Amino acid sequence: MAATFAAQLERLKEQGLYRQLRLVEESTPGRVTVDGREALLLCSNNYLGLAEHPALKRAAQKGVERWGSSSGASRLVSGTMALHRYLEERIALFKGSEAALLFNSGYAANTGIISSLTGRGDLIFSDRLNHASIVDGALLSRATLIRYPHNDPTALRRELERHPTKGVRLIVTDGVFSMDGDLATLRELVALKKEFGALLMVDDAHGAGVLGETGRGSAELLDVLGEIDIQMGTLGKGFGSFGAYAATSGEICDWLINTARSFIFSTSLPPAVLAASLAAFDIVDSPEGADLRRRLADNTHYFRDSLQDAGFDTLGSESQIVPIFVGEAEQTMTFSRLLLEQGIFVQGIRPPTVPSGTCRLRATLMATHNREDLEEAVATIIRVAATFPEVKKHV
Ligand SMILES: *Cc1c(COP(=O)(O)O)cnc(C)c1O
Repeated sequence: MAATFAAQLERLKEQGLYRQLRLVEESTPGRVTVDGREALLLCSNNYLGLAEHPALKRAAQKGVERWGSSSGASRLVSGTMALHRYLEERIALFKGSEAALLFNSGYAANTGIISSLTGRGDLIFSDRLNHASIVDGALLSRATLIRYPHNDPTALRRELERHPTKGVRLIVTDGVFSMDGDLATLRELVALKKEFGALLMVDDAHGAGVLGETGRGSAELLDVLGEIDIQMGTLGKGFGSFGAYAATSGEICDWLINTARSFIFSTSLPPAVLAASLAAFDIVDSPEGADLRRRLADNTHYFRDSLQDAGFDTLGSESQIVPIFVGEAEQTMTFSRLLLEQGIFVQGIRPPTVPSGTCRLRATLMATHNREDLEEAVATIIRVAATFPEVKKHV
């Protein structure tokens, strides 16, 4: 007989894997009140601080006043508004793609896109550290899922050679890996997808708006813009809004409209969100956006270099996501709790989000952090780690 949920929850607690929601109030740029205490926010994906930007707030208000609070239906029913079109045109222009299609979230985009492009008999080659929504999309598709070792193009090549097919071959990767902060080897993946006639999909949830000279994301940084068949991106992180998209060919957009179930069977994004996203593109594409990206990069370098100098293992981070390796789940969560008591809000990351034994704190930097706050955070992390013997310094 299956154990009761209560008993299973007890087991999670024993293993240090129990998850609880924390109430966050009074968010100001870079700081929050969490469970009643004020802390430096080091775990938000609002990297550029756009979620608090007056232009996004104003745009959302105007969106509601002009268009109402809901789209009222799925896009295919009666829910396509001019704002959906404007935003898709803007995304396609930004990404340099023929077309773009909105989804209600990154999770809905990945499950929808992957299960629409592949089916029984097709092959999906997925980096082992890809986001859970990519794995779920692959499971929904009923295609064969082949997970290759993290950022290992040689191993991917072997898998491609080992699995010939007349069906679709889809190579899919995070652009920036969400729990490690390192970048995909996109140039090598582009070469492989050409050689093997595969489709290449990049999930740039953490790169879009943030990385590259003009914020086009990891593909711009690695100089492969225009070489990726499906650029998936999200609007709830660097863009400070909500939703996601596929920037791709007109043909694939048309196919997605016809077959992506998370697109077809779900009420579309509401006007306030669409208007805020449009305002975010204006900022990302402006000198102000360039300045925010520079500040974010400066903060990232300061924070990561300081932790590395102090002997922490930041797991190959190359972006504003800076993990601090701990190891076991319980130690990681205790470390996180002690930091919160000292006014630093940084989440511990455990299985199933990361492989067991690789638990870590995952710190994320923001353009709106100021240097004094970060100096204090680094000092606090070093101090707490020192008084907490289980936290091993790795390097
Ligand atoms: C956050 C994230 C998603 C999901 O996006 P949401 O808009 O939050 O649903 C997908 N992929 C990656 C890599 C992510 O980090």
